[in-house]
Amino acid sequence: SKSLCYDYLVIAVGSETRFFGMSDVQKNAFTIKTLDDAIRLRNHIIYLLEQADQLLPESSYDNNKSVQSQKELLTFVIVGGGFAGVETAGELNDFIRDSVNDYYHNIDTRNIKFVIIQSGNRLLPEMSEKLGQFALENLRKSGVEVILNSRVIGATENSVKLRDGIIIPTKTIIWSGGVAPASLVSNLLCTHDSKSGRIIVDKYLEVPNYKGVFSIGDCAFVVDPSTGNPYPPTAQHAIREGTAVAKNIIAEIEGKPDKKEVFDYKTKGMMASIGKRTGVGNLLGIQVQGFLAWWIWRNYYLAHLPTLHKKIRVLADWITDIFFRRDVTMFKTLAEEK
Ligand SMILES: Cc1cc2nc3c(=O)[nH]c(=O)nc-3n(C[C@H](O)[C@H](O)[C@H](O)COP(=O)(O)OP(=O)(O)OC[C@H]3O[C@@H](n4cnc5c(N)ncnc54)[C@H](O)[C@@H]3O)c2cc1C
Repeated sequence: SKSLCYDYLVIAVGSETRFFGMSDVQKNAFTIKTLDDAIRLRNHIIYLLEQADQLLPESSYDNNKSVQSQKELLTFVIVGGGFAGVETAGELNDFIRDSVNDYYHNIDTRNIKFVIIQSGNRLLPEMSEKLGQFALENLRKSGVEVILNSRVIGATENSVKLRDGIIIPTKTIIWSGGVAPASLVSNLLCTHDSKSGRIIVDKYLEVPNYKGVFSIGDCAFVVDPSTGNPYPPTAQHAIREGTAVAKNIIAEIEGKPDKKEVFDYKTKGMMASIGKRTGVGNLLGIQVQGFLAWWIWRNYYLAHLPTLHKKIRVLADWITDIFFRRDVTMFKTLAEEK
């Protein structure tokens, strides 16, 4: 371990997936926080498709058994009906159904089941009720079952248990039930917001009583001066906070504290993709849904990718995706590559 001295410190360690003390769920669920999480989940799904495709019945008794086995292999439970859960459900549902049509012809698509468990009474609570309802109807139309007002309370390797006693047999639990600041943050002596655990900062994003220490992003509790409410933990805000903190540190270094900038960002909007080239969004107060929302969402992300060469690569990949079948090659995770 090495110690580094600093003149200025920016704490931007992000957040971690939170399991609310349910170690069995933590042990058995996939998370969707990092690129490795996504690769691991994708590999697991391809593996299950391969397994399910090999369940060939030889008699009617075997047929019943193989239907049951296929159902168990092909039931996917997503915990959490916020942005991450809804986008994951939409994308995986498309990926699995397209892949089955393209390659896994022994799989009966009626055996594929997607379930979203949402503790609240609607999907996408971050958005308006109308958009939440639109997402719900579209997901249901695409074959995703949505269970509202319920909670996961336990899990095993082969099932998930809900608060009302329902047990869903599954080999894939995807947890997007919440995040908390990285564990490092809770051990710091500064003041934390009692509910979220995030580091409280002032209007310049500086930690009160710790001169020269700033905090931004998911681990910081930044209050919107216009509303008095905290900004949501999104990349949209983290990026702007990064720019503001850089300006404020420069102002300090140049000895011009009056040049420090109050962080006051007006949220541009929120968008989510819900599968089948459909999206929902709220842009500068205007609600959009359907293909247009999905198209804007894609273009927004493309425009914000760093470097031209990355933009071209991603665009080429998306175009290829339109004309060719799904790629079901398993990838190594970054950890495996090391
Ligand atoms: C599935 C998913 C989808 C999302 N979609 C959107 C979206 O569409 N739009 C949007 O605006 N936001 C989205 N978000 C939220 C967005 O990703 C976060 O708000 C954003 O990444 C926060 O940025 P950050 O810099 O605070 O943290 P992060 O991006 O998490 O970066 C923190 C970094 O700190 C590192 N770190 C942690 N601890 C330490 C340590 N002790 N020492 C050194 N380094 C450390 C971590 O490895 C990480 O690289 C999504 C999040 C998820 C999980």
